[in-house]
Parts: sequence; structure tokens; C-alpha cells
Amino acid sequence: MDCIFCKIIKKEIPASIVFEDDKVLAFNDTNPQAPVHILVIPKQHVATVNDLDAMNVVRDLFAVMNRIAKEKGIDKTGYRIVVNHGKHAGQAVDHLHFHLLGGRKLTWPPG
Ligand code: AMP
Ligand code: ZN
Repeated sequence: MDCIFCKIIKKEIPASIVFEDDKVLAFNDTNPQAPVHILVIPKQHVATVNDLDAMNVVRDLFAVMNRIAKEKGIDKTGYRIVVNHGKHAGQAVDHLHFHLLGGRKLTWPPG
């Protein structure tokens, strides 16, 4: 399967990895929109939130985001977790990814 994030998981292309265990990988976004902009993904290929079904991996993803937020010191100042789904939200990579954004005041609503 030609999935760029699966290639990062398999270390076929490089990434700036922040956290890794058997189920979850987190790495810096190459086009950061905030001082902290990390993508957190399941190692198992899941295309979109529509495909999650009963997967427990969501719990693991949130546990990792919680941990990274503390490590980056944004757990107190605040952060945003974003999932873009489909065309209207501008999902560019069809491997489920949570954006963890922080380190500055974020505006609302998003565009
Ligand atoms: P989305 O628009 O929600 O699908 O987000 C895709 C994100 O992946 C964008 O923020 C990109 O900057 C990021 N991205 C694409 N390719 C890479 C890569 N090879 N390494 C790190 N981040 C990437
Ligand atoms: Zn994938």
C-alpha cells in the first residue's frame, strides 16, 4: 500500500520521531502550524475516523498525546487536538492522524 505514514512507521522514509511504542507513533509535522505540532498515529493502518469502529487504539493515542503534552510543557498552557476528515476538512493523508498543536494562543474558529 502506498501510504506515506506507513512508510514512516516502517522507517522507509525519515521523520522526527517524538514517541514510539508497539501501537503508536508520534512525529513532528514537517509544516508546523504552531511551536508544538506533532502528528500522533496508530501503527495499524486506519484510513479515517470513519474506519475506527471498535478500535481500542483511540485510548492509546490519547494516552500518548497526554504524555507528550506534559513533556512539551503545554499541558497547563493549553493545546488543541485536531482530526481532519475528508475533503471538506482538507484531509491530505489517508492514514488516521491526530494533530497535537500548542505553544501559542490558538484562534477559534478554524477556517
Ligand atoms: P491533514 O491535512 O490533516 O491530512 O494533515 C496532514 C499533515 O501531514 C500536514 O500537516 C502535513 O504537513 C503533514 N505531513 C505530510 N507529510 C509529512 C511527513 N513526511 N512528515 C511529517 N509530516 C508530514
Ligand atoms: Zn498507512
